[in-house]
Amino acid sequence: MIVCPILSGSSGNATYIESGSTRVLVDAGGTGSAIEENLKKIGVDPRTLTCLLATHAHSDHIRGLGVLSRRYKLPIYASEGVWKQIDKGRVGCIAACCMKRFCSVSKDALDLGDIEATYFSTPHDSYDSVGYVLSDGVSSFGIATDFGHVTPSIRARMKGCDVVLLEANYDYDMLMDGPYPYPLKERIMGPEGHLENREAGEFAVELIESGVKHIFLGHLSENNNTQELAYSTVRDVLIDGGVVLEQDCNVYMTRRYEPSRKLEI
Ligand SMILES: [Zn+2]
Ligand SMILES: [Zn+2]
Repeated sequence: MIVCPILSGSSGNATYIESGSTRVLVDAGGTGSAIEENLKKIGVDPRTLTCLLATHAHSDHIRGLGVLSRRYKLPIYASEGVWKQIDKGRVGCIAACCMKRFCSVSKDALDLGDIEATYFSTPHDSYDSVGYVLSDGVSSFGIATDFGHVTPSIRARMKGCDVVLLEANYDYDMLMDGPYPYPLKERIMGPEGHLENREAGEFAVELIESGVKHIFLGHLSENNNTQELAYSTVRDVLIDGGVVLEQDCNVYMTRRYEPSRKLEI
């Protein structure tokens, strides 16, 4: 399996996953051309994509969904509630045959070809949002961004994955000292907002204890976090938790506008 976050941050998110002849993007939160360019940078021809998955209907996750689906005739998988939220004015028309719906509380898996995807609800201020675990029978990748707190189901689904993309959205002090109006700060910090750097570190300790070998830290806020702060905060929590970096687990930073490390597992 190949995993590569190609856009990650509060401005746009897209992660590429490949196994066998199946080539998936989870979220397409950049312009169609930005996503195509970044796929080419990692040696992937966008015409070879086989499907798109959406976690939720915030624009930093769906901006390019419509254009990619129309251009390459790609099916889009999303929960019933996400389909209700997707604003046609923003993503344009999507062919009915490309709109694949699932019920987020069912336990069914999505058969994407050489990859199977399972999903689970996330506590986020976007209706019917989900995270995914993608598996090819050998390796598995879990995506956990855009959630305000770690729920039992997030914990259960992320534990034991080989690779996890974990949100480290904001630094508490930067958020509190920053320019956002207080209600917005409260929303970000709230139980349906985003994960703070220390919270990400604490969850990462649990994930590593469960056998997770690679963690991408992603979805960093542009205004309330920095790469250095996210990495050093998570690293310090991991060290305090007894983790030996590079031996127990590798931690990689994602990049906002460029592909991150292309991981082959
Ligand atoms: Zn987001
Ligand atoms: Zn969101």
